[in-house]
Amino acid sequence: MLLEYPADFHVHTCLSPCASDDMTPINILNMAKLMGTKVLGICDHNSAGNIKAVLEIAQDFDILVIPGIEVQSVEEVHLLCLFEKENQVLEFQDYVYSALPPISNNPRYFGYQWLVDGKGNILGEENRMLLASTFLTVDEISQKVHELKGLLIPAHVDRRHFSIIGQLGFIPENLKIDAVEFSRATTKAELKATFDKINNHTLITSSDAHCLQDMVYQKTFLLLKSLNFKEVTMALRCVEGRRVLIRD
Ligand SMILES: [Zn+2]
Ligand SMILES: [Zn+2]
Repeated sequence: MLLEYPADFHVHTCLSPCASDDMTPINILNMAKLMGTKVLGICDHNSAGNIKAVLEIAQDFDILVIPGIEVQSVEEVHLLCLFEKENQVLEFQDYVYSALPPISNNPRYFGYQWLVDGKGNILGEENRMLLASTFLTVDEISQKVHELKGLLIPAHVDRRHFSIIGQLGFIPENLKIDAVEFSRATTKAELKATFDKINNHTLITSSDAHCLQDMVYQKTFLLLKSLNFKEVTMALRCVEGRRVLIRD
């Protein structure tokens, strides 16, 4: 029997300089629990520095945390890169770090990049400037993500800036992607009316939460047999009855 699982694939922690300091692992998991969210993607800008802490605290919750990174490509495109396991996301993080410009963050201008434990105690600060474009192209990122058996989802495609359609003007037909995300600023119907080839892709919509209140946006539901990464992948691929529902 297939059951419906509320999903939010795109939530930032306090590691992202633009996110609130309240976005600690325990607060995020408690908010997800309150909202009934069962599939939770954690995607900080160009880093997975707080993933270990989120996965540890998630053991106390009946929630599937999908570790990820929101990478900024050389074309200034934001891409959600999601993985099943911690070691995969950490290997991908090495790849992203090796392609970041050698600039340090200035917290006064951009905000703090806190590395925390599950309960939100500060362990340190990430010094690399995470709000920057990597030297990686969209194609290179797609290739690496799939080499590591991950999922690639262009983020907030309806936005004019930092989105694949905003930056490139279209979604390249030969680019391997697993779904397309639209933001809170639009609806599925509006998106379909604006971009004619969008129907070729599985659509999701996420909170892109930078503060806890943002997580109230919960409109993507997955029909799954059980709660695990393989089933989530099947839903994005519309396999054997698994699928994505959007209620907006
Ligand atoms: Zn983004
Ligand atoms: Zn984001």
